[in-house]
Amino acid sequence: MHKRYARQEKILDMEKLNNSHVLIAGCGGLGNIVSLYLCAAGVHTITLADFDKIDYTNLNRQIAFREKDIGKQKIDILKDILIERNSNCNIFLIYNDIDTIEDFSQYDLIIDCLDNSYSKIKLHSKCKQNNKTSIFGSVIRNYGQVCLLKNSCINCAIPDLITTSDSCELFGVYGPMVGIIGSYQCYIALKYLSGYDVEEKLINISDLDFYEILLEKCNHVENNIEEIEIEYETIINELNYQIFDIREYINEEEYLMNHVFNEKDLISSYNIYVLCDTGQESILKAIELNSKGYKAKSIKGGIKRIFNV
Ligand SMILES: [Zn+2]
Repeated sequence: MHKRYARQEKILDMEKLNNSHVLIAGCGGLGNIVSLYLCAAGVHTITLADFDKIDYTNLNRQIAFREKDIGKQKIDILKDILIERNSNCNIFLIYNDIDTIEDFSQYDLIIDCLDNSYSKIKLHSKCKQNNKTSIFGSVIRNYGQVCLLKNSCINCAIPDLITTSDSCELFGVYGPMVGIIGSYQCYIALKYLSGYDVEEKLINISDLDFYEILLEKCNHVENNIEEIEIEYETIINELNYQIFDIREYINEEEYLMNHVFNEKDLISSYNIYVLCDTGQESILKAIELNSKGYKAKSIKGGIKRIFNV
C-alpha cells in the first residue's frame, strides 16, 4: 500500500477502499467536495455523472472549478483535477441525466449530489429497487440535510423534500454549507465503504444549529417512478377515481371529470390521480399521498400532455 495513505490506514480499510466503485450523481457543489475527498482517500473507481456545463454563478460554491473552466463540461474538468491529485484513481464519466443509468450492479455506493427533488427521488428509488445503499445530501440557503439510506427510503427519511422548493436560483445558497454537507457525505461514505456500521439517521443543519432524527426501516420499494405514473387515457374508463389537481392556476376549460382541488376532499377508498402542469410535481405529491395511505398515481406529462400544449 502506498505511503500516501499512512495517516488514514489505521482508521480506514484501505483494501476495501481500493476495491470500491462509487457513483457520484451530480457534479456541482456537493459533487466537487465528495469526489475530491473520495479520490484523495484512495477509492479505486469513481463514476461521475452530470450533463451540465460550468457557469459563473457556480463559482461561489463549486470550489474545484476555476474562471478558465467556464463553459466547459463539469465532469471533464473534474476528472482532470482528480487525476492530477491521485493518478491511481480510475474515473468514468456519464454525460447524461441519471435517468439513463439502468445498471447499478457495478456500484458499491451511490452518492446523491443532485440539486432537484425530482431527480433525487428518481435516483433513490432506483437504488432501492436495485438494493443499493445511497447517501442523500441537500443544501438550500443556509440549511442542509444528509443521511445514509439503506433500510429506510427517501420518502420516509425526508418527507418535506416534496414540499421543499429546491432552486438555488430562487433562494440562494451559502457556499460553506455545501462544503459541510458534502464533507458529511464523504465521511459517511468512507465509513460505510470501510465496513463500519453507519447509523441511519437524518442530520439536519440549520444555520449553526444541528439536530438529528433516527430513521426506521421501511418496505417502500413500490415508490418506483415508472409504476407511479399513469396515462390519462387509461383512467377515464374507471368508476371510482378522483383527479387531484395541484396546479396553482387552473383554467375552467381544463376541468376534467371528477376534478378535485383540495386534499381534504380526497376519498381514501378511491384511486387518486394527481395532476400538475408537466407531470413532475405530481409524482412527488403522489408519493406523499401514498405514504399517507392513499392509492395515488401521477398523470404522465401533466395537463400539457392531456391538451397537447
Ligand atoms: Zn419508506
